[in-house]
Amino acid sequence: MRIDLHEIIGVPGSSVAFDYEPDVSGVNSDAVIEALEPVRAKGRIRNSAGVLYLEAEITGRLKCVCDRCAAEFEKSLRLPVKAVLAEELCDEENSDIYLLDGDYVDLDEIVVTAYVLNMDTKFLCKEDCKGLCPRCGKNLNEGPCGCRGEINPQLAVLQQLLMDK
Ligand SMILES: [Zn+2]
Ligand SMILES: [Zn+2]
Repeated sequence: MRIDLHEIIGVPGSSVAFDYEPDVSGVNSDAVIEALEPVRAKGRIRNSAGVLYLEAEITGRLKCVCDRCAAEFEKSLRLPVKAVLAEELCDEENSDIYLLDGDYVDLDEIVVTAYVLNMDTKFLCKEDCKGLCPRCGKNLNEGPCGCRGEINPQLAVLQQLLMDK
């Protein structure tokens, strides 16, 4: 979505609000099955002493599949977005600066980039998900399986490494 900023450019203290549903279907992780509540970006762009600051929050509720145990779970999103909008890039190092296109800014570029960067690299049903037993395939969150006792400590370390992948 493009936002027209001509009313706030050059008017310190003014701001413009937005609230929309960005299309993130093309950038979702394979672990995301569907959106239970649409991904939404809500925030504002304000002119503070001549500099345009964007602040927003991305929310949504996703149905995901756990990377470790393959169980389905729900994940609530609450991702902060911050950016500075400028007419030209004076500080190449700062990746939070986005270019204006005349009086307009392309919100999707900022919101979708933040969405991708803030997405967990690992989708876990819970932080300490025990995963599946590599030998018998049992979901270890539901309790230990029969083969645990037979594994020697060295193999257990290897198993942990495999589980963390
Ligand atoms: Zn899990
Ligand atoms: Zn087992």
